[in-house]
Amino acid sequence: MNILLVEDEKRLSEVLVKILQENKYTVDAVENGSDGLLYAQKGQYDIIILDVMLPEKSGLEIAKILRKENNKTPILMLTARSEVSDRVAGLDSGADDYLTKPFAIEELLARVRALSRRQAEMQIETLTFGDITLKLSTHDICLGSKSVRLNRKEFDVIQMLMINSKSIVSKEMLITKVWGFDSDAEANNVEAYISFLRKKLTYLQSKVKISTIWKVGYRLEWEDK
Ligand code: CA
Repeated sequence: MNILLVEDEKRLSEVLVKILQENKYTVDAVENGSDGLLYAQKGQYDIIILDVMLPEKSGLEIAKILRKENNKTPILMLTARSEVSDRVAGLDSGADDYLTKPFAIEELLARVRALSRRQAEMQIETLTFGDITLKLSTHDICLGSKSVRLNRKEFDVIQMLMINSKSIVSKEMLITKVWGFDSDAEANNVEAYISFLRKKLTYLQSKVKISTIWKVGYRLEWEDK
């Protein structure tokens, strides 16, 4: 796990580097805003810890520029002041979390762990099959510029079919995975949701079809003609 630390207070920076390294993180530490921005743009970091008050460029400016460039690396902002306006400005600028100085080291480590977990979850954002893309965060299914929002169950069903696109997915498997072992859902429920999904695929003019394999289940098929 690589961390970029941008902090101009030398003593604080040294302490943080030491503790992060003891916790098995690899750290690059820089002391001004220009270097901070440059390192963030050029390097591959899992997390950026960014002080707000920095020489040359503020943490807020850096965060804004990175987000504008579509850099999604989680940012933990360190702010010396506890005013609400600072926090709001920090989060507005694109930071994911903030910590007010002085802070306990344990608190910093906890925030870093939380951000790295979130980063790991964000790695997979979409599933694709044929001409359709399923966005996991928004539950939209998209084809080109067209998209349609799925409800929870529709999303779960199509996700199962996409993940298992090389095999046939049985109704029992869908009921167990989507509705749960102890639910009262029956084959009818599955059929209803398959029918909703087929309508949405038709709306998108997708060439992906949900084929019924009689007495076995469903399979996604794509005819690219
Ligand atoms: Ca500072």
